[in-house]
Amino acid sequence: AIRPLLAGNWKMNGTASALATLEAIAAGIAHLPDVFDTLLCTPATLVHRAASAAKATRIQIGGQDCHTGQVGAHTGDVSADMLADCGARFVIVGHSERRADHAETDDLVCRKARAAIASGLTAIVCIGETGAEKAQGKTLAVVERQLLKSVPDSATPRNVVVAYEPVWAIGTGLTPTVKDVAEVHRFMRDQLSARFGSECAGMRLLYGGSVKGANAHELMGIDHVDGALVGGASLKAEDFLSIARAF
Ligand code: 13P
Repeated sequence: AIRPLLAGNWKMNGTASALATLEAIAAGIAHLPDVFDTLLCTPATLVHRAASAAKATRIQIGGQDCHTGQVGAHTGDVSADMLADCGARFVIVGHSERRADHAETDDLVCRKARAAIASGLTAIVCIGETGAEKAQGKTLAVVERQLLKSVPDSATPRNVVVAYEPVWAIGTGLTPTVKDVAEVHRFMRDQLSARFGSECAGMRLLYGGSVKGANAHELMGIDHVDGALVGGASLKAEDFLSIARAF
């Protein structure tokens, strides 16, 4: 069986005071059965302190983006090696907000994932259709293209997690139907199996987009949903723990 992953993405939220949230989450998780992994992807500025605070807890720490290279003349960028050096174990790549805000392409996302893997991190590769693409019936075509082009050939269940995040479901309170999530996740499993063979059988497939305590149980019960990538509801310990109780 695949060990589920509950991942929080703090996005561009959190200064030193957010470490208290991390501690409250860690304290709450400690009371739950140890049957899932928990990850908080903090702003890069907090990774080092968060990783220190999370030592001896069940919380792991990740970044939210990395450069395609490890060192060099790239003012303002952060490399996967640097995140790993600060204690990160994961890094999100290809989040729809980066694809939109920074015009990131599938090819760039793939190269970032490769950099993450080279640094010993697990890359959380995000994919998902926009509202317009969904309205045009293109969901599976978009997912197929993004999976093929954003997930590197070197992907294994240890170094890559795929997160399906329909863009229209992020931060909107809207979620796809159970039937739609089931269809996309089965499709992703089939695509990855066709490409990587049984090697991919254990690759974790997360759902993200308006996950909260009230819908987590239903979403996490869907076949081939191996966890969640949570934005807004990861910013308050109480909200995040209400999702954790569904795991
Ligand atoms: P919300 O949970 O706020 O919808 O955000 C989802 C997301 O983008 C996680 O990466």
